[in-house]
Amino acid sequence: MTPTSGTPSATRSDSATAPARILILGGGFGGVYAAIHLERLLARELDRGEVELGLVSRDNYMVFQPMLPEVISGSIGLTDTIASIRRLCPRTNLYTRAIEGIDLARRRVVTAAGLGSRPVELTYDHLVIALGNVTSFSGQPGLSEHALPFKYLGDALVLRNHALHALEEADIEKDPAARRSLLTFVVAGGGFSGVEAVAELNDFVRAAAKSYRNVRPEEIRVVLLHGGPLILPELPASLAAFAQRLLMRRGVELRLETRLAGATGEAALLASGERIPTRTLVSTVPSGSNPLVAMLPVPMERGRIRTDSHLGVEGHPGTWAVGDCAWIVDARTGQPSPPTAQHAIREARCAAENIAATLRGTARRAFAFNALGKMGALGHRSAVAEVFGIRLSGFLAWWLWRTVYLLKLPGLDRKIRVAVDWTLDLLLPPDIVQLRTGHAVGMRREHFEPGEIVFREGDHGDWLYIVVSGEVEVLKGVPGHGEVALRRLGPGDCFGEIALLGDHVRTATMRSVSGLDVLAVDREAFHTLFSSFPPLRDFVERLIEERTGKRDGAGPAADEAHELAERR
Ligand SMILES: Cc1cc2nc3c(=O)[nH]c(=O)nc-3n(C[C@H](O)[C@H](O)[C@H](O)COP(=O)(O)OP(=O)(O)OC[C@H]3O[C@@H](n4cnc5c(N)ncnc54)[C@H](O)[C@@H]3O)c2cc1C
Repeated sequence: MTPTSGTPSATRSDSATAPARILILGGGFGGVYAAIHLERLLARELDRGEVELGLVSRDNYMVFQPMLPEVISGSIGLTDTIASIRRLCPRTNLYTRAIEGIDLARRRVVTAAGLGSRPVELTYDHLVIALGNVTSFSGQPGLSEHALPFKYLGDALVLRNHALHALEEADIEKDPAARRSLLTFVVAGGGFSGVEAVAELNDFVRAAAKSYRNVRPEEIRVVLLHGGPLILPELPASLAAFAQRLLMRRGVELRLETRLAGATGEAALLASGERIPTRTLVSTVPSGSNPLVAMLPVPMERGRIRTDSHLGVEGHPGTWAVGDCAWIVDARTGQPSPPTAQHAIREARCAAENIAATLRGTARRAFAFNALGKMGALGHRSAVAEVFGIRLSGFLAWWLWRTVYLLKLPGLDRKIRVAVDWTLDLLLPPDIVQLRTGHAVGMRREHFEPGEIVFREGDHGDWLYIVVSGEVEVLKGVPGHGEVALRRLGPGDCFGEIALLGDHVRTATMRSVSGLDVLAVDREAFHTLFSSFPPLRDFVERLIEERTGKRDGAGPAADEAHELAERR
């Protein structure tokens, strides 16, 4: 869409000759299918230059999310779950950009600057909002730092690499407690995405572990946490019970009526107070409003945009909403539409038809859709399904699941690739190469529960820590006296600099006193800052002198520890 100015009306641009500008936000099922249907419905108008179509999305591809769990095991290739938006809707101008703001009153959308370019402001006559929802970990301490989300393509790849990394570490780890936590994989959320993810993860780690000489199958623990009494609440109880039995038979430990309350780098924290030591925690719940959507001055229902029966947004003629970000009541059943791909596709079609009808001055239709069925894959050639009211489970459901998704995949090339991958997957063992996708983090936040060890005296030091909130105590080992607490550090204090700068091992143990949040800076980032920012260098050098007593050669921390130990 050409960046333009002016004050457009709800139906078309104010100038008689200017094309009507339809702008779609989001490149998921809702946005892409809206563009596909609009290209078809308005083919003549597009030919004559009377309509201009634009779509803004962060990526230039659409993710086929129902297949994401299969990326974990590698049973389909990474790029087979995505389709090029340019190829799916060739007559639509694609803006591969992050959207920064939506101004409904002025009918403008602002996109962030791209690669060396500038932010672009797009104006429109009709706006289709299809921005989906986001993974939200707010309110659960430690989750944003330590839990892996499972929604985007990158999430599936990160999880696969992480699981392989845990197996690699476990293979060389001798300490039994550390091995247990490395070989425990926890998934939170017993809805479709959680169940499909845990089924694939379970199959994958158990099959991959056969290639690790020092990992015994009985050491692997895969846990599914679910808040309700039965997983897959979207399905009839008999099918959900079947899925539960099957997962348990495959070795998945089901923890029902169990809620995840938080996480640390070493454990999943349950609402009951129990801790499950793990290095791999995946959370598929909860999802929150896309921040752009949450800021809109429109009627909302449970964080979603409330539409009228034609999918228009009340009070904003020319604004439409579809997919997971929209609260759409089905005209036939009176029930809100669930956030699923099949609903997003039908809603997109209805919105496209109503936009075309508005442009032509014809009648619009109310949204109504009878879901064809529900299906969930359980790994190992089995699934559960309810299609046209018929309940299926096991191999037949799995065959149906694969056939339906193969048919739904956009593009013949992709269908062929996936069919070949699936066939090979039946014959070959899983691939266990770990892909290094990016380089070190530089800086990250970490959360520790009371009593947790941040690092131990004698450990190799790779991180500098800055206390954001909470308190941490400094412990020093004194021969014959055990560990002596020297002092406490609070918000604004830093620790870990001695080992990082001098390339020594840690000179003390740091233990969290209360819930502790820290900013951890890695060795590379620390050295870059240290060498190029003199005030920081002076500060750190003074701090080290103070803490180690370098000037007189004595170690004040060690002396202090001895003194305290003697007094005990
Ligand atoms: C693991 C998993 C498995 C699933 N399995 C099934 C299934 O089996 N069957 C089923 O029916 N449904 C399934 N779903 C749900 C289904 O995928 C969603 O309901 C569907 O994707 C919703 O489509 P949408 O277009 O509304 O949102 P999304 O697909 O989330 O698309 C939102 C789009 O907006 C873009 N966007 C968001 N914010 C910005 C921004 N600021 N700037 C630029 N672009 C932005 C995103 O990049 C994305 O392209 C599954 C979901 C997941 C996560």
